[in-house]
This record gives sequence, C-alpha cells and structure tokens, in this order.
Amino acid sequence: MTALPTDQTITDLLTTGLSACGVDASVLEGSAASASLPARSPITGQDLGTIAADTAQTAADKIAAAQTAFETWRDVPAPVRGQLVQRWGQLLGEHKEDLAKIITVEAGKTPSEAAGEVQEMIDICEFALGQSRQLWGKTMPSERPGHRLMETWHPLGVVGVISAFNFPVAVYSWNTALALVAGDAVVWKPSENAVFAALGAQSLLARAAAEVGAPENLAPVLIGGRDIGDLMVRDERVALVSATGSVRMGREVGPVVAERFGKILLELGGNNAAIVAPSADIDLALRGVVFAAAGTAGQRCTTLRRLIVHESIADEFVDKVVAAYKTLSIGSPTDDGVLVGPLINSGSYDAMQAALKQAEAEGGEILCGGGRVLADERPDAHYVEPAVVRMPNQSAVVKEETFAPILYVVTYSDLDEALEIHNGVPQGLSSAIFTAELAESEKFLSRSDCGIANVNIGTSGAEIGGAFGGEKETGGGRESGSDSWKAYMRPATNTINYSGELPLAQGVEFL
Ligand code: NAD
Repeated sequence: MTALPTDQTITDLLTTGLSACGVDASVLEGSAASASLPARSPITGQDLGTIAADTAQTAADKIAAAQTAFETWRDVPAPVRGQLVQRWGQLLGEHKEDLAKIITVEAGKTPSEAAGEVQEMIDICEFALGQSRQLWGKTMPSERPGHRLMETWHPLGVVGVISAFNFPVAVYSWNTALALVAGDAVVWKPSENAVFAALGAQSLLARAAAEVGAPENLAPVLIGGRDIGDLMVRDERVALVSATGSVRMGREVGPVVAERFGKILLELGGNNAAIVAPSADIDLALRGVVFAAAGTAGQRCTTLRRLIVHESIADEFVDKVVAAYKTLSIGSPTDDGVLVGPLINSGSYDAMQAALKQAEAEGGEILCGGGRVLADERPDAHYVEPAVVRMPNQSAVVKEETFAPILYVVTYSDLDEALEIHNGVPQGLSSAIFTAELAESEKFLSRSDCGIANVNIGTSGAEIGGAFGGEKETGGGRESGSDSWKAYMRPATNTINYSGELPLAQGVEFL
C-alpha cells in the first residue's frame, strides 16, 4: 500500500481533465450562485469546490429550451442526425484520457476502468451512427385488397436521463446516443457525486452539436440533487424518463411517471450471482469471480455479490478466492497496480459494516476482509478490504444489494437447488455459471431470471452490442444494444388505401 496522493495532485488531475474537455474552470467557483452543490473526491475525501446548481426555474427553462430544440431536431433526417453522434464519438476518442481523469477523481475508478467507461461511450456512438440508418419498421400484408399496412417509428420528444455515480457518463451515453439519432432532445440529471464528469461529457457533446449545426439546447444538463431530478420526473414535457440508480430511487420515480402516463425506463440495483459447478475450469472461474466481485470496489450494478458453489469443490474454491483477495492491492486508483479504489463515501462504508454485522448475526463467517484501511492517512476517504463471507444459507442480508465489496458464499448439491437459490432474490440483473457441461449451461440460460446470463465469464463487464438491463426489482428496462433504440421512439401503424374502394376490416358492412 502506497501513500495516498496530495490534495494538489487530485486538483491538478481534475483541472487538467476539465480544461482539456472544454469545461470552464469557473465552474469550480459556484459558491456565489443561488443554488450550489459541494463536490468531493473519494480518493482523498477532499472538497473539490462548489458547483453552481440549477434552481427550479433554471431547470424548467432548460427543459423548455430542449423542447424547442426537439421541434427542429425531429425534422432532421435520421442519418444526418447520426453525424452528431459520430462527431461526439470522435471527440470522446480524442479526449478519452482527459475525461477518464475526471472520472477517476470523482468516482475513484482506476485509470483503466475510467478509460474503459469512455470507450463504452465511443462504442455506443459508433453503434448509434449505424442505427441512424436502421430505425426500421415492418410492413405487414393487409387483409384488404389494394391496402398496405406498415409500422413507422417517430421521435418521442424530450428524454430525461437520471444517472448514478458509479457509471457517471457511460450510462448517459447509452441513452443519449440512441435518443439523439431517434430525433429526441435529452435533458440529463447526473449524479450529484459526479457532476464534473457530466460537465466534461456534455461539453464535448455541445462542441459536436455546434460543429455539425445541431440546434442549441438539444442536450442540457441539470445540476442538482434529488429535488432537481424530481422536478424533471414530474415535468409533463419529458416524454420518457430513463432512470439509473437504486431500487429506492426507482420506487420513488416510477409511480410519479406512471401517474402522468409518461414512459419510463428503469435500470436499478442488482444482486448478481455466479454458480460454480464441479466441472468448471477452476482457474478461469477464479479470475472471473475475483474481477466481478472486487473490481471497482464492488460498486458496479453488475458486481458479483453471491457465489453459489457446489459443495464438492466449495472449500477448495473458496480458499483460492480468499488467497486471491489477499493479493489485491488497495489504494489510490491513481497509483500503478492498484486494483481496488475507495468507496464513494462514508454512507457506503457504514452500509458495508452494517451488512457484515447482520451477516454474522445470521450465522455468516467473515473469511477475509471487511476492515477499513488508510483511515489514519485520510480520515475522510473510505478504503476497505473486499470481504468474503461464508453463509449457512441465503439469509435476509444476502438478498439485499449492499453497494460495497462483499461476496457471500453459499453451497449447493444439485443444479435445481442452485437455480432456486440463484433466482430467490428480488433483483434480476446479471448472472453467470461456470461449467464445462453443455446441459448445465443450457439449463442455466433458460432458467436464470436475469436480463443478463453468462457462461464461463463473470457477471460484470458487458459489451454495448447487447441490450443491458434486468428483471424484477432491477426495473425491466433495456438500454444500449440490440433493439433498445425502440424505447426512445414511438411506433405508429399506418394503413394506406390505394384501392379506390373503402372495404372495412373484418368484413364489417356500413353504408
Ligand atoms: P441513487 O439511487 O442514490 O441515485 C441515482 C440518481 O438518482 C442520482 O442522480 C440521484 O440524484 C437520483 N435520484 C435519487 N432519488 C431521486 C428521486 N426521488 N427523484 C429523482 N431523482 C432521484 O444511486 P447511486 O448511489 O448513485 O448508484 C448506485 C445504485 O445504482 C446501485 O443500486 C446500483 O446497482 C444502481 N445502478 C444500476 C445500474 C443499472 O444499469 N441497472 C447502473 C449503475 C448503477
């Protein structure tokens, strides 16, 4: 473990990243504004400055301006709209390291993971560019002679995006790249814990928009906490709310949008599991498990939280996991070789400690980790040793998502039992099996109740080409690849009569 960086090192990293992305440094001096947000880095716990935030009035004005921009943008041909995301993707490529620096400072990700997040943005821009020529509908045979029946897809309007701290920009880009080619305007309420990264990403998008001649105010950012998000959620002009975050947030936001008959796309918490079967390639499973469980300090929605391992190999496999955990270097993500960075804040640390205490009360044995490190050096930063906890069964604490690196281990004797344990939680995001048996793998794929089901690969680290999302309390939304673009458009069924007659469907006679 090496010493944590100085405040100045972190500030320099942030200001270099911000200025290279075209964000005015005056953003750091927002304390004079009528509304403001404090910013901090989880790496050191230091204050990064105060950012001017939106008021109810400025938020409403931005939504109104986005609505106006939409009215122009909707008429731009979709392949021409594609040029905007193409240029945004190019700028993200040029500024990959710059934006990654801001992500590291604010979210505490390692440079490799932060750069990977920006790469995801570049990938979805490429995907959306292709999609801009493929917003296709179907043509169906009509039951009436001289008639044509077809489906067409149209822009929705203003899309409101709410995002979480742990993927501060990638999830925004999944929504935004597709919504923009779909002809929508996008209003973004980023996490209050990652506003600088949002400003960096948005500055590059604003530059791309200006360069390709897209309307102004097509993609404004609302700076603020839950209250500002709530205003956006209640605003009738926001046709679709795409919200990523905790189940708690989804429970608050979902009914509000439903009440006004708006559209909603929810990407909420996960409680992801991997089954390790006796036939598994143990070394491969080990690497898959350790990356998925301890990477990003357990702060991915797809983090592996439950290990369901066959009783015949459980002791041997768990010993290997514990041994691997002991080699993980914990510390500042800015240091070479560090694999586990900080938790986002003291709230996460407290939640982790409470979960470990509850796990012990429910009969669990902490096999390794759980303790705080580097606290003497930086009392306001929260670094922890990732924990492995062997549980007698899937008790209450295991069924909850604690957004910290705790891996609960339970054992099983046959695959049906493993699947029952696997599906026996309220969340349904990501899942995996490690096996060499075709029949086991197929049974798992057909029975896992998650939106993501993998074989011989861990639960985290999805590619943008597939649809991303999950079932049950995870919210049911799908974003990114496959045909997720449809969420940002509305379909219309068109009947065109070129017969010169007016036959009615189902043979109905009238006049
Ligand atoms: P959070 O729920 O605290 O906040 C997420 C966002 O929602 C923030 O921008 C916040 O300001 C906003 N928000 C919260 N309550 C709101 C309300 N009532 N009205 C409007 N906006 C509101 O989550 P977090 O701590 O930032 O992120 C961690 C959580 O997000 C975890 O549960 C994780 O699993 C989940 N997550 C899910 C996915 C996914 O794709 N399924 C991806 C990333 C994170």
